[in-house]
Amino acid sequence: MAAPLKPILPPAMLGILGGGQLGRMFTVAAKTMGYRVTVLDPDSRAPAADFADVHLCAAYNDHAALKELAETCAAVTTEFENVNADSMRWLAQHVPVSPSGDCVAIAQDRILEKSWIQKAGLATAPYLALETVADLNHDLSPYLPGILKTARLGYDGKGQVRVATAAEARAAYADLGGQPCVLEKMLPLAYEVSAIVTRTSAHEVAVFPVAENRHARGILDVSIVPARVEPELAQRAQTMAVQLAEALDYVGVLAVEFFVLDGGELVLNEIAPRPHNSGHYTIDACVTSQYEQQVRAMCALHPGRPELLSPVVMVNLLGDSWPEGGEPNWEVLMQAPNVHLHLYGKTEARPGRKMGHYCVLAASPEAALEQAEAIKDTL
Ligand code: ATP
Ligand code: MG
Repeated sequence: MAAPLKPILPPAMLGILGGGQLGRMFTVAAKTMGYRVTVLDPDSRAPAADFADVHLCAAYNDHAALKELAETCAAVTTEFENVNADSMRWLAQHVPVSPSGDCVAIAQDRILEKSWIQKAGLATAPYLALETVADLNHDLSPYLPGILKTARLGYDGKGQVRVATAAEARAAYADLGGQPCVLEKMLPLAYEVSAIVTRTSAHEVAVFPVAENRHARGILDVSIVPARVEPELAQRAQTMAVQLAEALDYVGVLAVEFFVLDGGELVLNEIAPRPHNSGHYTIDACVTSQYEQQVRAMCALHPGRPELLSPVVMVNLLGDSWPEGGEPNWEVLMQAPNVHLHLYGKTEARPGRKMGHYCVLAASPEAALEQAEAIKDTL
């Protein structure tokens, strides 16, 4: 069923596939607005389950659980792209689902994703789709040095190998198990930015301010907002994000990640069909959060206003900051009146695992960044 045109109002039950931190922040937003929430997640300790009215602890393709979602929810969404698109398509026969299974399927597969980006008239890094081993017989030199990325199931830099030569690309393809991949040319990045757009079934759009994103070891580390770029460049990123959402006839929150090249050229890296780590700052620093926007879009309400209330820096907290068997030292962070801590309720801290984040609001992005870094040293 396509996204609804008639508003769904509280206390309707909303369903979400996935109960990680994104599902948790979605659930908090929906509950605050007076909706009830059912979370489907096979993990009995899913972070969203702390707040959800109902936790269906079952696999994403479990028929009984999907049937219960369809029967009890007024609308369904997802918090991650690796959910079975067929489950979403089945649900859509019974209940409004946004984003659509088709959009999620596109974001799941780098080959499809890049072809859709190009179809929308937007630039990607030069790439070669390697559907089978035979595709390695093409001339690889235009894509080298490059990054070999699995077409599916990559995140936080996983499923990626940097390769300098054709021989290395062939070896890496075999190491990745001979699965479909893309070979993408390594580009000289000046920095990375993201734009998050909300689009409704009535085709209204609202775009959040552009975030400047720094990664460490392939994982988002810090988002700085507003991005310290020319206003014209930020505007261009927002326009491109809207253009893609329209090309996909997308309904819901769509995150669009860009590379900014040394010459100021904007290249679209990838999309996420959901709220995004680089949009966590919207909870503390925008009129409407990206999670409330997801609720609004799936419920056929107008998007909320996306304006920034204050410059902000968001810092991801990974399990690496947790001492063995203990907690980081929260005192300095918690005592700061302009800093907001968000923990995801995960009990087991592993290196690289996203445990929480904090936001620093200050008079300028530079001041927020300086304080954010000083706080990190005290944890
Ligand atoms: P996530 O889903 O967490 O954003 P991912 O695993 O899907 O990450 P990408 O976004 O494709 O991976 O790449 C991760 C990071 O690696 C990018 O943010 C960028 O810093 C770097 N990177 C990826 N592709 C290129 C490229 N073609 N040229 C230069 N750097 C790149
Ligand atoms: Mg990425």
